[in-house]
Amino acid sequence: MAIKVEGVTKLYGKQKALNNVSFGVQKGQVVGFLGPNGAGKSTMMKIITGFIQPTSGNVTINGTPINSASKDSRFDIGYMPENNPLYHDMYVKEYLQFVAKIYKLGRYSNKRVKGLIELTGIVNEQNKKIGELSKGYRQRVGLAQALLNRPSVLILDEPTSGLDPNQIIEIRKIIADVGREKTVLLSTHIMQEVEAICSNVIILNKGEIVANGPTTSIMLDSSVKQQTVTVEIVEPITPGMLMGIEGVSNVEQSNINKNTWTVKSMAEKDIRPDIFNFCLKNNLTIITLFKKTMQMEDVFQTVTHSPNS
Ligand code: ADP
Ligand code: MG
Repeated sequence: MAIKVEGVTKLYGKQKALNNVSFGVQKGQVVGFLGPNGAGKSTMMKIITGFIQPTSGNVTINGTPINSASKDSRFDIGYMPENNPLYHDMYVKEYLQFVAKIYKLGRYSNKRVKGLIELTGIVNEQNKKIGELSKGYRQRVGLAQALLNRPSVLILDEPTSGLDPNQIIEIRKIIADVGREKTVLLSTHIMQEVEAICSNVIILNKGEIVANGPTTSIMLDSSVKQQTVTVEIVEPITPGMLMGIEGVSNVEQSNINKNTWTVKSMAEKDIRPDIFNFCLKNNLTIITLFKKTMQMEDVFQTVTHSPNS
């Protein structure tokens, strides 16, 4: 197991940020770490990297306990903290060489820094001040920094937050690339990101794990039964008409195309035949009818939703 978390609890004063959390990440996996703000993701990542100590519980990296006594295991981790704090007055290359010195890379450091500048696409920025870079380029510097000592485990805390759609795609591509040979734990709020690059997903809510498994099976999880069907009907109808179909729990009209309706149901059986037969009986013409496949978004909402929040 590349990362093993056993019974980790973290208290900040009286507040419990993590409650007896256990999970494992296997070597080579790219794992999406999800959860609403305040769920405890950053706290867990800081504990995994040895940045802060848990109140109780253990973490091992490739079998070695991560605590202040074991510098070896910490050196096998690359960490990009939330908000990616960097020295804004330092120049990109100078900063990476500075970090290389901390890692005591010695005579390999110049070559290593050069390679990472190329890998993360900051060749033209290497002689600029970090503070002058756009957020997207700063994230690349953060990623280069996290990769410097060739760690086998990468912990990335919201690496794409605050980036524009093009920058997101570029950073995501780099992560997917390095993820081919490394173990990656990555927190994000972007569900497509998880569907695109994560083999596994862990969802945290209020300091506890509420879902953990392969991305595809989590999305097929039968405990999340809601189905969403899109239907386009030529004739004008009222939402009440569709609500009358057995098992339908919610009906919404599209703002863009008034003939398109989103129908939700918690029923176990496919509701499309009922919608079809209803339209047939009422002389309504269906021109589109499809069931949306379960998305990470739906899973996330289901497992992190509590009636009193
Ligand atoms: P996430 O990254 O999922 O948004 P965090 O790990 O940052 O969650 O925070 C989890 C909980 O712990 C939150 O309620 C937050 O307010 C609290 N918390 C985080 N860091 C500290 C700290 N240094 N001192 C006190 N409370 C903290
Ligand atoms: Mg956080």
